Amino acid sequence: MTQPAEWVTGYLGLGSSIGERESHLQSALQRLTSKGVRVVAVSSIYESPHLGLAPGDSERYPPHLNCVVELETTLSPIGLLERVLEIERAGGRERAERWSPRTIDIDILLYGARVESSPRLTLPHPGIAERAFVALPLAELAPDTVLRNGQRLREIVLTDEVQRQAIWRVAGLVLSFGE
Ligand code: ATP
Ligand code: CA
Ligand code: CA
Ligand code: CA
Repeated sequence: MTQPAEWVTGYLGLGSSIGERESHLQSALQRLTSKGVRVVAVSSIYESPHLGLAPGDSERYPPHLNCVVELETTLSPIGLLERVLEIERAGGRERAERWSPRTIDIDILLYGARVESSPRLTLPHPGIAERAFVALPLAELAPDTVLRNGQRLREIVLTDEVQRQAIWRVAGLVLSFGE
């Protein structure tokens, strides 16, 4: 007898900083809904300047749009990572140096309560508490989630680390999901 598939709740961070950023996010969201993955909720969209920007670099490093997607999946963590990398390729992602501008970036922020540190996959994603563009949208959907440092998302968004970052919620920009 095969067991019924178990659906695990996960959170993905989506980002885009090239071209039609909103439609890159929307296309990725559409592609996520597929075998073994269902989208449950989407956060607001936030805009922020490229991190670590040097003066005069703003043309080469345009601002990012980011959001967080809550999903349920029967895929394994690595299976979900492979699906996500496929969706990045379908979205025209080219791999240049790390943190370079990209049409679409999809990070697995959380996969259930899974903790993992392998070369291919670190869970929870290590950047959550340092990055306002991840912490703020994630806190909208999962404020009571506790990270490895023992802090809840609802506390993390109030830290100086997050509060000092330049970021704005883009009112009126809403992604659609589902059928
Ligand atoms: P960062 O991870 O700091 O946000 P990035 O998103 O720019 O940087 P990428 O070039 O998109 O980095 O990804 C490089 C590799 O990171 C991926 O091929 C993947 O194997 C690995 N990786 C490790 N942990 C994760 C995770 N939680 N989600 C997505 N990729 C991960
Ligand atoms: Ca689809
Ligand atoms: Ca990333
Ligand atoms: Ca990534």
